[in-house]
Amino acid sequence: MRPEVRPELRSLEGYHSAQVEVDVRLNTNEAPLGPPPGFVDAVKAAVEQVEWNRYPDRSASALRQALGELHSVAAEEVFCANGSNEVLQTLLLTYGGPGRRVLTFEPTYALHSHLTRITGGEHVAVQRSRGFVLEPDLVEDAIRTTSPSVVFLCSPNNPTGRVEPLAVIESALAAAAEVGAVLVVDEAYGQFAPHTALSMLDDERPLAVSRTFSKTWAMANVRLGYLVAPRWLVAELEKVVLPYHLDSLKQAAGLAALEFVAEAEARVAGIVEERGRLSDRLAELGCDVTPSAANFVLFTPPDGDGRTMWTQLVERSVLVRDTSSWEGLSGSLRVTVGTPQENERFLEAVTAIVGGAQ
Ligand SMILES: *Cc1c(COP(=O)(O)O)cnc(C)c1O
Repeated sequence: MRPEVRPELRSLEGYHSAQVEVDVRLNTNEAPLGPPPGFVDAVKAAVEQVEWNRYPDRSASALRQALGELHSVAAEEVFCANGSNEVLQTLLLTYGGPGRRVLTFEPTYALHSHLTRITGGEHVAVQRSRGFVLEPDLVEDAIRTTSPSVVFLCSPNNPTGRVEPLAVIESALAAAAEVGAVLVVDEAYGQFAPHTALSMLDDERPLAVSRTFSKTWAMANVRLGYLVAPRWLVAELEKVVLPYHLDSLKQAAGLAALEFVAEAEARVAGIVEERGRLSDRLAELGCDVTPSAANFVLFTPPDGDGRTMWTQLVERSVLVRDTSSWEGLSGSLRVTVGTPQENERFLEAVTAIVGGAQ
C-alpha cells in the first residue's frame, strides 16, 4: 500500500510553466540578457576563495550588509533565501500554517496560494474587480472580516502588471496591524514600477517587502531572493529557515551583482521604454492592453481568443504565457518584454495573426 500524502495536499497540482522549443521565449518574465560580463569575472574570483570543506556563513552577513546599504536599512532588517519563493515559504512557515488564514487578492501570483496550502494554512481569495485595480476600502474590509495571519499584495502584480496605489498599501497595512497580520508586499518587479512599499517600512509596522535577483538582476538561475522587514520579524524567520540554506557561491554571486547597480538600472530603463512601445503597438493592433508597471504586458487579442493566438504564436516560434483560462483573465495572454529584436518578432507575429483573422 502506498502511503497517503497529507489530506490538504491530495488535490494539489505542482507549479508548471509550459516550456516549448522556440526561437523567442517571452513566457517567464526573465531578463532578456545575462548579467554584465564583469559579473561573471567577479563570481569566478569568488570561487577561488570558497572554503569547500567548511559550512557557509550562516547569517550571510556580507550579503545582508550590502543589501541593507542598497535600501538604507540595517543588515538585521534583511532576510535572504533561495529565491523569493523560499523567502515567502519561510514567512508562511513562521506566520501561516494550520489553523491560520492567508489572504490574497486574485488574480495574482499563483505561488502565494500554492505555498499557503503546502504550509497547511487556509487560503482566502478575494477577487479584484474589472481592470484589476484594488480599492482601499475593499482591502480594509477584506482584512477586517477574514482576520488573516498573513496578507499578500503583489506590486506590480503578476500577471496583470498593475502597480498597487500607495493608498491601497497604506490601508492594507493599517488593517493588518489591527488584526495582527503580517502584510507581505511581493515586489519581484519593484524596480520597473514608479513607487515602492519600501518607504513604508517601520519597526512598529508589520510590513515585509520581498524582492528577487531573478528578474532585474538577470539571475533567475542563481535562485536568490530577500525581504526587508523589521528586525523582530527577520529574527523569527531566521529561527525557522534551514541552517546553512544559502551556500557561499550564492552569497558571493549576490554580492557580485550588487557591484553593478548602475548597469542594472540602465537595463531597467531600457525595458521600461520597450514596455511602452510594446503596449502602444498592441493597442494599435486592436488588443485590450492592461497598463503595466512591470517587465511584462497582459493583453487580450481583438477577438478575445487568447488560447488560439497562443497556438498561432507558437507556430511562429514565439512563446508567451497562456493566461486565457485563469480565473478573471479569460482570453488573455501575458508577454514578457524581451530585447528589441525579440519584441519585434513578437509584434510581427501578432500583426500577421490579427491581419489574417480579419
Ligand atoms: C518571478 C516572481 C518571483 C520570483 O521568485 P524567485 O523565487 O525569486 O525566482 C516572486 N514573485 C513574483 C510575483 C514573481 O513573478
